[in-house]
Amino acid sequence: MDETDYIIVGAGSAGSVLADRLSASGKHKVTVLEAGGTDRRFYVQLPLGYGKLFYDPAVNWMYQTEPDPGLNGNRDHWPRGKILGGSSSINAMVWIRGQRQDYEDWGRDNPGWGWDDCLQAYKAMEDTEAGADDWRGKGGPLFVSANKSGLHPLVGNYLAACNEAGLATNPDFNGAVQEGAGIYQMTIKGARRNSAARAFLRPAMKRENLRVTTRALVTRVLIEDGRAVGVEYRQGGVTKVLRARAEVILSGGSINSPQLLMLSGIGPGSDLHGLGIPVLQSNMNVGQNLSDHQGINYTWSMKVPTYNDELRPWWGKLRAGMQYFLGGGGPLAKSINHAGGFFRTRPGLDRPNMQLYFQAFSTLIPRNGERPLLTPDPWSGMSIGLSNCRPTSRGNIRLRTASAEDHPVITANAFSTDHDVQEMLEAVKFLRHIAAQPAMARLIKEELRPGPKIQSDEALIDDFRSRSGTVYHPSCTCRMGKDAATSVVDARLRVHGVAGLRVVDASAFPTIIAGNTNAPAMMLGWKGAEAILADAR
Ligand SMILES: Cc1cc2nc3c(=O)[nH]c(=O)nc-3n(C[C@H](O)[C@H](O)[C@H](O)COP(=O)(O)OP(=O)(O)OC[C@H]3O[C@@H](n4cnc5c(N)ncnc54)[C@H](O)[C@@H]3O)c2cc1C
Repeated sequence: MDETDYIIVGAGSAGSVLADRLSASGKHKVTVLEAGGTDRRFYVQLPLGYGKLFYDPAVNWMYQTEPDPGLNGNRDHWPRGKILGGSSSINAMVWIRGQRQDYEDWGRDNPGWGWDDCLQAYKAMEDTEAGADDWRGKGGPLFVSANKSGLHPLVGNYLAACNEAGLATNPDFNGAVQEGAGIYQMTIKGARRNSAARAFLRPAMKRENLRVTTRALVTRVLIEDGRAVGVEYRQGGVTKVLRARAEVILSGGSINSPQLLMLSGIGPGSDLHGLGIPVLQSNMNVGQNLSDHQGINYTWSMKVPTYNDELRPWWGKLRAGMQYFLGGGGPLAKSINHAGGFFRTRPGLDRPNMQLYFQAFSTLIPRNGERPLLTPDPWSGMSIGLSNCRPTSRGNIRLRTASAEDHPVITANAFSTDHDVQEMLEAVKFLRHIAAQPAMARLIKEELRPGPKIQSDEALIDDFRSRSGTVYHPSCTCRMGKDAATSVVDARLRVHGVAGLRVVDASAFPTIIAGNTNAPAMMLGWKGAEAILADAR
């Protein structure tokens, strides 16, 4: 019988950090089982390559949501990384921690997860290019680029327009305050994507006590007498069993971790019964509380050249390729989101409730596979995007069948609360206000999407219901909390009612944080490892 101490299911953002931390002392045998394959792929290493990975089933689970009434009946495409590094190997690389108050909210019911605790973990993880201060770390495993050079000239106009619209420039969204407009820091190192696999997993793979097995789809957690003792997985058409002397840790992400719990008999009893799965631990919260940020882009045609002019014609692509290969620069060396911001849609709010993304680029956001993300519009185009920070809409993940090979049912329920609709309405108006400022307006030819005809509240709402989509941050489907009546795991990330089993990934967030979710997922991996190692002692 194959045996190890700790089994980690999934080598994603949290799983990679966990694998590094649990194997660091050399005392524990750690085995990672990852459904996807190697991250040694060109478009994974190339920062702007994520546009190609968006629809690549070789590295991507390619989920589709159910038709969503809040999105005028549209299905949404939900990419998730199926590869070493998980979604950190296919994401847009923006490094945002969230707001201090997000973690104060977490810490209220979950000892050890307050702002000071999480800040300490962030500082320990980071090797911030900008340098250490009260908020930022230096010398940790994860290099975070300050992204100061090689920005598109329109970034200057965007920042000036934000200032003119009343949003001051913020030199560090991950510093003292998040509010303001500014440059996005990136998980990019030496012109290559700096995924969780590259920063944490690959260096740790040199250790003898860490084994990473790829193309291994975990199909079930084995539970005996209320304790997780191992997993069953499929590899190369063969079903195998791996036993854990210490613990099984699910780091499969917000779709797959609840799916795997349910396949293993932990979840809403009636749903499991219906599929013939014996209920070992009933918990109505597994797969519930699905929280995600919903985003919309406004696009304009411009009087000045943008990346559309560089990335669309063959000679532009050639030039961009030469810039990248000869000097490690040009548009391919970055995320398309050079800058962004956080603002309040109303003065009475105590903190920002909206995030901005600035792109000197425009494209039709693909829906149902219509068009690859990297195809720029055939004119000089610019986009400013928005996403909400603390949506109140909640969706859920349910099993479609009793097989791990089948995608679960994803019900997003986007814009299903008045709160979410109203704040997005306020936000799109502010977005137009930014574009109308002199620093930007003088360079704009015309608004293309949604276009000047869309003015009334009804028309604006109808537009974002039909054009918006996920910004890829599903969270909270195995959320952390006090007890099984309200949550799936406790503050040490242990599954309520089952010994030897934890969930360590973005599904364990108690609530979604204000900003992108890679940083908090990795931080949760870091702190999860501290809890596991402390409990082992
Ligand atoms: C297209 C895209 C763009 C994004 N852009 C940004 C951004 O710019 N900035 C940001 O902060 N965040 C971004 N995100 C979100 C961020 O990357 C994720 O929130 C984060 O990576 C989630 O980490 P995780 O550990 O929860 O899961 P993941 O990183 O998704 O890892 C889960 C891993 O588990 C594996 N797995 C799942 N089930 C099984 C199983 N049964 N057996 C074996 N292995 C399994 C998966 O293959 C995967 O490797 C983006 C995400 C996407 C998809």
